[in-house]
Amino acid sequence: CGIVGYIGRRDVAPLLLEGLQRLEYRGYDSAGIVITGKSGELRTVKAKGRVRDLEARVPKRFAGTTGIAHTRWATHGAPSDANAHPHADAAGAVSIVHNGIIDNASELRARLTAEGTVFASETDTEVLAHLIARSQADTLEQKVSEALRSIEGTYGLAVLHRDFPDRIVVARNGSPVVLGIGEKEMFVASDVAALVAHTRQVVTLADGEMATLKADDFRTYTTEGSRTTATPTTVEWEA
Ligand code: GLU
Repeated sequence: CGIVGYIGRRDVAPLLLEGLQRLEYRGYDSAGIVITGKSGELRTVKAKGRVRDLEARVPKRFAGTTGIAHTRWATHGAPSDANAHPHADAAGAVSIVHNGIIDNASELRARLTAEGTVFASETDTEVLAHLIARSQADTLEQKVSEALRSIEGTYGLAVLHRDFPDRIVVARNGSPVVLGIGEKEMFVASDVAALVAHTRQVVTLADGEMATLKADDFRTYTTEGSRTTATPTTVEWEA
């Protein structure tokens, strides 16, 4: 339902929780957050219920400057802690938040299960986390686009990978993704409402487009890997 992400220099958890709160009006049944911790490990907290229930579970020491967060409106699997996003592979290398519906999730789940993958949730989203983690491609961008080629459905997607801590990779097909361009910091959200407190410079991804966000740089490209031009526009917003 709602996505917020940040990469930069500021303490990320308060920023993401505040962003999720700005998306509360859209409705949701659970929420979650993953950040890159001080030693590069991915740290996840999730909760069924409101953003404040999530906030209550976030440990005192939850420091980092990169992270993604989600409010879920369940389509596959009941609202629960386990089904809340982010979703990860068993090794905890990849973590993703996803809006939309993966139509061929049950076939993919059956195939992955037969190959030994153990699922931690009932969501359609989780198949994508496993597909990205299993990809043998060299770059995170290639891993994500390879995984996206095997799914059918809609997505607004944000991905963190332990081995690529300097970036967030995002993708859009049928579910909005907006980049917020800051000064040595980058934002992503499913709705400009979550960005405008921080930047008015935005890039709206088109269907079939992906982006890589680094603290001081961003680029956009198609799922096939060809660069696209993205000129930030200024959003008008009455605070
Ligand atoms: N289909 C996903 C799920 O059920 C994402 C739902 C959403 O857009 O929040 O978890």
